[in-house]
Amino acid sequence: MTQRERKAARPFGLARELLAWYDVHRRRLPWREAPSPYKTLVSEFMLQQTTVATVLPYFERFLCRFPTLAALARAPESAVLAAWSGLGYYTRARNLHRAAIVSLRDHDGDLPHEESALRRLPGVGPYTAAAIAAIAFDEHAFAVDGNSARVIARIAAIRNDIRSPAVRQRIKTRGEVEVPTARAGDFMQAVMELGALVCTPKNPSCTQCPIRPSCGAYRAGLTASIPRVAPKPARRVVHVACVALQDPATSKPRFAVVRRDDNELLGGTWSLPEAVITPGQSREAIAHRAAALVGLTADKLEPIGVVRQIFTHRDVTAFVFRGNLKANRRASSNKLRWVFPDQLSQIAISSFAKKTLRLVAETPSTTHDRRTNKLRTNKQRLTPRARIVDSTTAPRST
Ligand code: SF4
Repeated sequence: MTQRERKAARPFGLARELLAWYDVHRRRLPWREAPSPYKTLVSEFMLQQTTVATVLPYFERFLCRFPTLAALARAPESAVLAAWSGLGYYTRARNLHRAAIVSLRDHDGDLPHEESALRRLPGVGPYTAAAIAAIAFDEHAFAVDGNSARVIARIAAIRNDIRSPAVRQRIKTRGEVEVPTARAGDFMQAVMELGALVCTPKNPSCTQCPIRPSCGAYRAGLTASIPRVAPKPARRVVHVACVALQDPATSKPRFAVVRRDDNELLGGTWSLPEAVITPGQSREAIAHRAAALVGLTADKLEPIGVVRQIFTHRDVTAFVFRGNLKANRRASSNKLRWVFPDQLSQIAISSFAKKTLRLVAETPSTTHDRRTNKLRTNKQRLTPRARIVDSTTAPRST
């Protein structure tokens, strides 16, 4: 929409009805109780690609651990990642930490108020900048996420693909026209809340909708076909071999874990050594290679099961092997650590890595115990097919 078109766009006048509805029906969420810009910042980072239900326990714990922007900025990154463990999309945690550091350094420990200044903080994209500007500072801004895009697309009867950048910009401009001069933040939350509770993707509850008289999709009988969303490209299928290498020198089992590079999937978190399997390669050979890549040599490896995890863009199947360490050509470093199971809560571990480690812990060993010189056997040998742990890292935003 051009500037002229924008000027000409007449607001639907949604604010009065929406705010009245929001005052009665909004969910009581911890970032809405005694709200603060810092709570808004943390909640908006956590809610990217994650549902409210998933975020709730993490938000409470994170706020206890880092109660202020300054406390977060002064914490080591490893502590921030540990507090984020299990929430996924770890780049968000590192960016949130950096955003706190930049705000402490460049903005006297406060967050900038304007959308344009917020955009310059690490990890703050167009959506997050507009959401923080509106919700934390009542700035005249409109944030386009899945919920708000759906509501505006239906109200304005926009029939084009709402994922396209041009349509998202049109929705943003259309939303900005509706933002009232007072309570801009509540208006933003009211639109999102309506999308989460009433104007749902399937079967919207139009009879309970406070803005039904203004809804173009409802009038035209198009609520089932708007918004239009073009199908996403298929996820890339990836097979990896993971190796749980036990240190036989310790009486209690401890395993080698490696820190993933910041720029890779689950960057900054710790997991079992792994390597990608290409078609035709032996899984066991690749498991040995995974160990070798971090300077370790395994003796005989046994397959203990399979873990599958669906990420936003990847469908990962991990074939998990276990064995004893034969040689270690590298001392522990900031990329390689030996951990006992009870130490796992102190480091950043993704849900994916937790599942592989749980599989290791729950699967009896058939390997030779070099300390006791006895062969340990399990009642039923478990093959990769016999043990499958499957889950999805589901995108969300309600
Ligand atoms: S009338 Fe129905 S489709 Fe239109 S905004 Fe309300 S819930 Fe959504």
